[in-house]
Amino acid sequence: MKTDNTTQASAGIQGPAWDLSAEYQSFEAVGFLADWKAVETALEVLAGRGARIGQRIPDAATLNASTETELLQDCRHFAVELEQVSTLLSNLMVYVNCMASTDGFNSQAKQLKGRLDTLGSQLGALSASYELLMKLAPQDFYDAFCAFDDTAAFRFALGQIRKLKDLALPLEVEKTLSTMSPAGFTAWGNLYNNLTGTIRCTVQQPDGKESVMGLAGASAVLKQADRPARESAWRAINAQMAGNQEAFAAILNSLSGWRLAEYKQRSHTRKLHFLDSALFQSRISQTTLETLLAVLAEGRELGRHALRLQAGAYGCERLGPWDILAPAPQASAAADGGESTNGIPFDQGLELVRRAYAAVDPAMGDFVSSMQAKRRIEGRVLDGKRPGAYCTGFTKSRNRYVFTTYKGSLSELSTLSHELGHAYHGEVMRSLPLAESRYPMTLAETASTFAEAALGDLLAAEATDKSALLELAWADAQDAAVFLVNIPARFAFEKSLYEARENGPLPADRMCSLMTSAWQEWYGDALSEYDSYYWASKLHFAMPGVSFYNFPYSFGYLFSLGVFARRASLGDGFHQAYVSLLRDTGRMEVEELAQKHLGVDISRPDFWRESLGIVRQKVERFEALLKG
Ligand SMILES: [Zn+2]
Repeated sequence: MKTDNTTQASAGIQGPAWDLSAEYQSFEAVGFLADWKAVETALEVLAGRGARIGQRIPDAATLNASTETELLQDCRHFAVELEQVSTLLSNLMVYVNCMASTDGFNSQAKQLKGRLDTLGSQLGALSASYELLMKLAPQDFYDAFCAFDDTAAFRFALGQIRKLKDLALPLEVEKTLSTMSPAGFTAWGNLYNNLTGTIRCTVQQPDGKESVMGLAGASAVLKQADRPARESAWRAINAQMAGNQEAFAAILNSLSGWRLAEYKQRSHTRKLHFLDSALFQSRISQTTLETLLAVLAEGRELGRHALRLQAGAYGCERLGPWDILAPAPQASAAADGGESTNGIPFDQGLELVRRAYAAVDPAMGDFVSSMQAKRRIEGRVLDGKRPGAYCTGFTKSRNRYVFTTYKGSLSELSTLSHELGHAYHGEVMRSLPLAESRYPMTLAETASTFAEAALGDLLAAEATDKSALLELAWADAQDAAVFLVNIPARFAFEKSLYEARENGPLPADRMCSLMTSAWQEWYGDALSEYDSYYWASKLHFAMPGVSFYNFPYSFGYLFSLGVFARRASLGDGFHQAYVSLLRDTGRMEVEELAQKHLGVDISRPDFWRESLGIVRQKVERFEALLKG
C-alpha cells in the first residue's frame, strides 16, 4: 500500500477501468454463490474435526507421533481444509473489497463485507484448537505432520507459531480471550475509525473561502501546494484532535493496556516484552531492530538536512509540521496554473513504467504489458471511489490487480509503478503454495519500493526539464525526512507510551508531552513547531491488529535501497537473484533471507550504512539541483 504521496490533477486525464470478470461476474453470479456456499459447508466440517482435535489439547505436549496415526490424519485434513476454505473466503473478500473500492455507495458490498467478516471470525475461532495443538506438540509430532506431501508447505508458518509455545495459555483462556476481543479490544480500533470518520474540519482554501470537510479531505490538503491552506488544514485537524482528546486517549490507553495485560498473562515461563509481538510479526530479531535504530540515529542529521533544504526551496526558515508531506514548490506553480509540464496520459505513463521494468529485465517489462492487456489496472476518476492506491490478489486464480486513481501527475505515475511492483511480487510467487507466500511487513514493500526506484532512475536519466528533475529529487528528500526522522519519532513515542502505560492510564496531556519529546529528539530544530497531537491524528497508533507499525517502514525503505544497489553490482545475474529473494519472502526469517540472497548480515550496521550512503547521494543531488 502507498499512503504518502502528492496529487495534482490535470483536467481530463484518467486511467482505465479494470475487468474483474475473470474472477466473478457479479454478487449474484453462480460462481460467487457457489464459493460462498462452499465456505459455509466447509466451516461445518471443520467444526467437527476441530472439536476432536481440541479434546487432545490437555496431553498435546506429550503426544507420541508413532501411535497417534488417527490424530495426525485429523490434523492433516484440518490443515488442508482450513487452507482451502481460507482461500475461498479470501477470494470472496477480495472481490467484495474491489467492488466497494470503486463504488463507495454500493450498500450491497458493505453488507456482504460484514457477513464475510463474521465468517472470518468463525473460521479464526474454529482453528484455535488446531493451532494450539500444533504449537504445543513435541518436535516428533510436528515433523511427522510436515512429512505428508500436502502439509509440507505449512512447515515454515507452523514453525513460526511454535516459537510462541512457552507463551501459550490454557485452551479455555485462549478461547475466552478471542471471544472477548471483538467487544473489548478490536472495538477500540472501530471507535477510532468511526470517530475519525465523523470529524469535520473547517479549512481556509487558497481562494480565501472556508470549507468544511472530513478528516480525509483535510489530510489531502496537507499534500497540496498551497502553504497557507496546508497550515489551515493542519490547525483544523489538531483543533479536532484536541476537542476529542479524551476519546483518543482512551483508545490508546485501552489498546496498550489490553496488550500489556495479555503479555503479562503469557509471561508465565519467560517474560514477554511489549516489542516482542511486533518483532515476531516482522520476522526480525531484537538485535536487528536495535542495529537498525542505531543506524537511523546516525542518519537523523541527514533527514533534518533534507527538511532544511525543503524549507529553503519554499523560501522559509523552517518547515512547519503541515509541510512534511508538501509537494515541490515548482509543482505548486503548475497546480496554480503556472507554466509547467502537462499531465502524462495514462498509456504514455504506463509505457514509461514498462520501459523502467524492462530495463531491469525483459520479463518484468512483459509483466507490465500483460497487466494492461488483461485489464488488471483500475485508474479511473470516479465519484464515490475510495482514495489511495493498493494492489490486491485473488487467492483462487492468484491473479493480481492494481487499484489507483490516475490523473496524470508524476507522483501518481510513481504510485502506479509502486503498486505494479507489489503485483510483480505476487506474480513471481504464483507457483508457490499460499502458505509459503505470506510475507511480513518488513519485506512487504521491497518489490514496490524497488519498482518506484526503477522508474525514478529512468525518469531522471530521460528528464529534459528541470522542474521534472526537481520533483523527483523532492520526493527523494521527502522520503529521507519521513524514513530517517518521522518514522523513528513515531517509534520513540510508542515505546515511551508502553513504558509509561505499565504504571496506569495516561491523561491526554501526557500523551502530548510524550509526542513532543519524541519530535524534539528526532526533528530537533528542523521544524518551526512540533505535532503534539500526532498520537491522535495518526491512524497507525490505533490499529488493533498490530503494534509498532512504524519501524517496518524505515526497515523496508533502507532494505529495498540495499536490494536496488545490487542491480548495478550483480549486472546480468541480478534479476534471477531478485526473483529468488522475492520467492523466499514468505518462508524465511528476514536475517536468513538477507544472508542467503544478498550475502549480508542485517544484524550488523554495515548493510544499513551502505543504504544510508545511497540516501546521502540522493539528498546531495537534490541540493545540487536547488543550487543549480
Ligand atoms: Zn506498498
